[in-house]
Amino acid sequence: MLSITEALEEVSRHAFRLPTLECPAIEAMGMALAEDVISPVESPAFDKAMMDGFALIAADTNSGNVNLEIVEEITAGNTASEAIEEGQAARIMTGAPLPPGADSVIMVEDTQIDSENVDRVQILQPVKQGSHVLKQGDLLAKGQVVIPTGTIIRPVEVGILADLAAGKALVHRRPTVAIICTGDELVGPGVEPGPGQIRNTNGPMLEAMAIEAGATVKQLGIVRDNRDELAQAIKEGLQADILLISGGMSVGVKDLGPALLAQQGVEKIFHKVKLKPGKPLWFGKQADTDIPTLVFGLPGNPASSLVCFHVFVRRALNELMGRSQISPFVSGFLLTRDFVNPGNRPVFFPAYASRKDGGGATIVPLNWKGSADIATLSQANALACFEANSQYEAGQFVSAVMT
Ligand code: AMP
Ligand code: MG
Repeated sequence: MLSITEALEEVSRHAFRLPTLECPAIEAMGMALAEDVISPVESPAFDKAMMDGFALIAADTNSGNVNLEIVEEITAGNTASEAIEEGQAARIMTGAPLPPGADSVIMVEDTQIDSENVDRVQILQPVKQGSHVLKQGDLLAKGQVVIPTGTIIRPVEVGILADLAAGKALVHRRPTVAIICTGDELVGPGVEPGPGQIRNTNGPMLEAMAIEAGATVKQLGIVRDNRDELAQAIKEGLQADILLISGGMSVGVKDLGPALLAQQGVEKIFHKVKLKPGKPLWFGKQADTDIPTLVFGLPGNPASSLVCFHVFVRRALNELMGRSQISPFVSGFLLTRDFVNPGNRPVFFPAYASRKDGGGATIVPLNWKGSADIATLSQANALACFEANSQYEAGQFVSAVMT
């Protein structure tokens, strides 16, 4: 049986980058850039006023209180019609280009205008050369890498792309995820569960997780534990980049998944991982195709399937989208109560993490009732990671997967 780390390595090794496409940056939020964003120009393109005030020659103000002639007014979006000469100033607004000859801006608050003589301005103090001016090229040089490949696009990147790349981003296209839920016991929405039947929790939950992770989803519905029905659904599912099959992947009499997948050319990479919950996880890859579908057989228990998605499916999706720098684990949570894991597998335990006054974060394992219990997962915002056969004391640091 593979360890969590070994299984994650296998997932990464078999995942591939999806083809790239150019799209509006706003639609690429959360996706990784597939190329460096290079500044095509210097920024700013001109010496720019950073305050409302007066553009002037700093040397004119060395003696302190001086009086300058106002030659014109320059607002943002306009340019000066003439150069500033000794003894002159131009009224200027934030964002406007400095007039030729001027080297500094004094803010309007540090000036005075006599209402009898509105064509002149009193400069109340000496101005340091370069004050309130952003020099041409100070922010970005032409040809500079502004955002490197792999950066995940957030609102600030959308802003930069609008400025430098006409609002376009080159990203790996969104993965498609197909979802099959197997089980004779499952009923869909709007159907009252009969004796022994249950509602399909995993289908909608996995869809939500895939959407949250940046994928587009195709639901293939509930499939009976029936050879033909499942074979047909798998055939359809293999059109997607990732196929998730919930349930039916163990070794029970009705667990038909692995054999049917093999018949359709999906090779098993691993089956079972040393973790709790989620041990029955199955992972395979379609052979002999350009863009092979990755197949995850997820345990039917909702909590198990949620954990496997967070740790393994998310890793695959991130690799496909070029977001390989994202790790499922966050370290440094201070445990606030003792915890014992008597089992021989590491456990991901539903827990609540919160910020601590004065820095750092704490985590408290919740009163979880096992892999069928997703109600407690709703109170959790993390899965605390505990080693096999281990005993933890309050005050120790642990890592966690955020949910
Ligand atoms: P399995 O992995 O098929 O052996 O299922 C393990 C457990 O999860 C059983 O109790 C199933 O009834 C339950 N289960 C399977 N699929 C689902 C589902 N889609 N939604 C909720 N529970 C499920
Ligand atoms: Mg089943």
